[in-house]
Amino acid sequence: MSSQQKKDQMPDWSDYRGILVFVEQRDGVAKNVSWQLLGIGKKLADKLDTALMALVIGDNVEHLANEAIYHGADKVYLCEGPELKDYRTQPYSRITLKLIEDAKPEICLFGATGTGRDLAGAIATHVPTGLTADTTQLDVEPSPSRLLMASRPAFGEKLMATILCKNHRPQMATARAGVFEALPRDPERKGEIIRIENPIKNEDIATKVLDFIEKKNEVNLEEAEVIVAGGRGLGAPEGFKLLKELADELGGEVGASRPCVDAGWITHEHQVGQTGHTVRPKLYFAIGISGAVQHTVGMADSDVIVAINKDPDAPIFQFAHYGIVGDLFKIVPNITAQVKKRKA
Ligand code: FAD
Repeated sequence: MSSQQKKDQMPDWSDYRGILVFVEQRDGVAKNVSWQLLGIGKKLADKLDTALMALVIGDNVEHLANEAIYHGADKVYLCEGPELKDYRTQPYSRITLKLIEDAKPEICLFGATGTGRDLAGAIATHVPTGLTADTTQLDVEPSPSRLLMASRPAFGEKLMATILCKNHRPQMATARAGVFEALPRDPERKGEIIRIENPIKNEDIATKVLDFIEKKNEVNLEEAEVIVAGGRGLGAPEGFKLLKELADELGGEVGASRPCVDAGWITHEHQVGQTGHTVRPKLYFAIGISGAVQHTVGMADSDVIVAINKDPDAPIFQFAHYGIVGDLFKIVPNITAQVKKRKA
């Protein structure tokens, strides 16, 4: 065998099987990214002909174990206790590491959220194994390699890198919220719930959560059902006031294209696209946005897209379900007034 062949030969990982998704929750409410990860996890598990597993940790969170089954999990590991109410790295990573040791999943997926990043990083360091952060595409090579192909933008977002983890198990990735589609919730779906004994005592944990202070006016594009997004066509920061009025009437959030953020008209947390958020709301307004690929890559999976642009040839119309050609400064206040009228 040549030295190259020896290098390419992977260790025998046949005792590692199944895909494990970490279900992130706060106060018993799951983050949507958890169900989205189960959606992609199911596709990967079907390709590998293996089980899709979920891990739920928290206090009084049994309902989330059931929800995980309704969203595609075959088997859910559930660890409950008052010490686990709030996320803390030490207890959560200890429980997850023990489960990885016992259940031996070949792939572990986490949301690329603050919690997911923290937990996945802590675990990958301890196992030790590789971790691909912030992935936007996930696929697997079929047997015998069963390799996870975890892709993410690289080199200043100019190209996509696909990262493989050949020499360690499990293969781990965090994935951005809004990128993958959750399966439709099926309350008839059956699965197995396995309780894990809570090994944690409060005195074992070095950190204490004293309080949660919610960030006021936090923009939550990934979870928004309606997004009213504006682009350079708004002409000035004041243009976003028009959008905010419409978003407020529809109970939605305001989004933006990158030039508006670069110009300082609005903060980066509103940016949609390759270097911003990936979103899939029920309704997306693209107002004064031309439809560059770096923008559409972040919103093209929205259920309904309404584009408003004065240029009939703007590429955004190729993505839109409904297109309005005209001046946004006339059209947007009109739509807002109509919505108000219908609500009255
Ligand atoms: P423009 O392309 O200038 O379009 C403005 C539109 O407004 C035009 O179509 C015009 O007809 C219309 N308009 C003007 N006035 C009116 C009016 N009164 N009424 C109606 N319509 C009007 N972009 C992103 O959005 N998100 C990203 O994450 C992102 N990442 C990037 C990453 C890289 C590495 C690079 C190179 C670029 C990235 N971009 C991103 C930038 C992207 O390439 C485009 O430049 C950007 O999306 C264009 O923004 P826009 O549509 O608002 O502006």
